[in-house]
Amino acid sequence: MTEPEPTQPEETSEPKERLAHSFRNLRELVDFVAGKSLPPLTPEEGLLTEALPFPFLAIVGQQEMKLALLLGLINPNIGGILLIGPRGTAKTTAVRSLLDLLPQVERSTCFYGCLPEDIEAGGIEAVCPDCAKKYGEGQPLTAPDRVRLIELPLNAKIEDVVGGIDERAAAHERMRVRRGILAQADRNLLYIDEINLLSDDIIDSILDAAAQGSYTVRRGPIAATYRARFVLIGSMNPEEGRLRPQILDRFGLRVIVHGLENATERLEAYRRVQAYLANPRQMTGQFSAEMEAAASEIRSAREQIPNVVIPDEIANPAIELVQRMGIDSLRAEITWFESARAYAAADGRDQVTMDDLKAVAPMALRLRRSQFMSKYLQNQLLEETELNSLLSRFGRRSRLKKRIKRGAKKK
Ligand SMILES: [Zn+2]
Repeated sequence: MTEPEPTQPEETSEPKERLAHSFRNLRELVDFVAGKSLPPLTPEEGLLTEALPFPFLAIVGQQEMKLALLLGLINPNIGGILLIGPRGTAKTTAVRSLLDLLPQVERSTCFYGCLPEDIEAGGIEAVCPDCAKKYGEGQPLTAPDRVRLIELPLNAKIEDVVGGIDERAAAHERMRVRRGILAQADRNLLYIDEINLLSDDIIDSILDAAAQGSYTVRRGPIAATYRARFVLIGSMNPEEGRLRPQILDRFGLRVIVHGLENATERLEAYRRVQAYLANPRQMTGQFSAEMEAAASEIRSAREQIPNVVIPDEIANPAIELVQRMGIDSLRAEITWFESARAYAAADGRDQVTMDDLKAVAPMALRLRRSQFMSKYLQNQLLEETELNSLLSRFGRRSRLKKRIKRGAKKK
């Protein structure tokens, strides 16, 4: 059976030319494509079996969510993105569609996930015997591969997440430790839908691994370290339970995702979903030129990132603002500055401006102020004032007493 290929030479070549001339940067591209009008589609007769994600750039509206996700891809130092909002607001669609924007990565070809970095860090014993042999012969342990989306199932247990011991496996330590979801997430995107429903130990182990870029599984005398360099994306519906403030703080960017308010946008969103359901291949094809352009913009922004600096005259007032907002967590300015650097890099610049900081401030700084902490500190301050005033009177009285005593002695 031959699959019909959509043949539209004018339509596939024309947008590419427009792209080369009309877009100054990634942001302009994203905004333009969100409003692009689509030619009519011919429905496809149920031939499609592989999953074609809905094109990221075809998502209508939701600018802040799209921007946050793109910044997260450009600069991993941002440290995770949390999407907060009700169901049906394209959160999961947006996350799944990110894969098409990412360049290939070098990945271990071994079942046990051995990497040359493991040998550099822990010696030849750190990898399985097969990989040790390969390494000795000068063969590569990795091969280029596409980035995948690892979705954490809600019913995952801690052994699934970090890995466990395989009792029947061979004697080599690495082979006795079963790789967990975190190790599979290395150089991928890790998506946790409804993160607020996960247990604390699982969330903690994920956040620790995300922060360190690796984690170690220890079971008695057996230990194995795995790389876990991933972009963490979580989503939560606040109607279904809260997230502990400590956990909320460990997410770099927080996006409040609302439903589309504009009726024209809602209709356009509906039409695109219809088109996608009717003919996914053709619909995604209509965005492929822009998706390619965006992917190449992301690649160059990633290369640009190390050169982007924040001048002191901008950084200092920014830190003052964080302090004036009563935010204690240092993560506030780390995320704020790192996302501003990504924002500048996406624009092809090597210096962060005040406008860059303003553009990303809400998603970096919101939900950082802890109500508990401010109440706690207020009470503590009150107590301190009370204590001080008591102490000062206590001091005066005791000095008075001494004076009286001294006076009494003199008499
Ligand atoms: Zn191996």
